[in-house]
Amino acid sequence: MSAPPSAAPAVAVRDLHVSLDGAPILAGVDLTVAAGEWVTVIGPNGAGKSTLLRAVGGLLPAPGAISLFGTPSEALRRRDRARVVATVAQSPIVPAGMSVLDYVLLGRTPYIPTLGRESAADLAAAYDVLGGLDLASFHDRELATLSGGERQRVFLARALAQGATLLLLDEPTSALDIGHQQEVLELVDQLRREHGLTVLATMHDLSIAGEYADRMVLLADGRVVAAGTPREVLTEQLLATWYRATVRVVDGDHGPLVVPVRPAPRPIRAG
Ligand code: ADP
Ligand code: MG
Repeated sequence: MSAPPSAAPAVAVRDLHVSLDGAPILAGVDLTVAAGEWVTVIGPNGAGKSTLLRAVGGLLPAPGAISLFGTPSEALRRRDRARVVATVAQSPIVPAGMSVLDYVLLGRTPYIPTLGRESAADLAAAYDVLGGLDLASFHDRELATLSGGERQRVFLARALAQGATLLLLDEPTSALDIGHQQEVLELVDQLRREHGLTVLATMHDLSIAGEYADRMVLLADGRVVAAGTPREVLTEQLLATWYRATVRVVDGDHGPLVVPVRPAPRPIRAG
């Protein structure tokens, strides 16, 4: 008996090259994210993490290099793509004068007919995610008046309201205090388990990154330099090599925890 055909991965990136303004930014990146998996890309500033997520989200041309759920990315039309993949950018544009509810309803655009209005179901979906992110009382606030952390949760609410099966999260918790970081990541993980979402994220906090990811990819200078489980990627040696960081890695309940430690002082040379 032959094996059943395996489901297409949510994301398949093959030999992705991206140049911006003539400068090579990504130089042959391979990445696979299985449906339902959570993969987090880490790497030093400027490694190309945001560029990789932008390419996967269809915001940068990458002909022939990216498939989403088995369909070549360039074959997806705008509306179809929006039902498949939702992105929270690292620094989204804040439209002037827009309320929180109207902003979250932008996530429902792929379901609203051209020249039509949002339905009761669209409104319910928007209020649902606002509630889940502790934002219900903010619905009529102007987005621009929110704190950085509140705004970050609204950006996530918009992506969740979109109802896409693949979430691309570019540093979704950088602006949040540790309580809200956990709340947001727990909600994303709960949605992943209950609705089979796939998550491709970037994160700077390596301990938190390792606690939520099934697999991690370490990107440096536009190339994948390590990939595997958090335990395989979050090693003192790899972090010293690619971040020039001195860290201790200790065992936590949900994976390795990375503790930055001050490097030993260099001896002062007598002049
Ligand atoms: P990361 O998210 O890992 O910090 P980015 O993907 O944002 O890295 O950027 C990777 C590199 O690409 C950086 O060196 C950045 O300066 C460069 N870069 C980003 N956007 C552009 C652009 N529009 N033109 C030229 N270089 C860019
Ligand atoms: Mg970035």
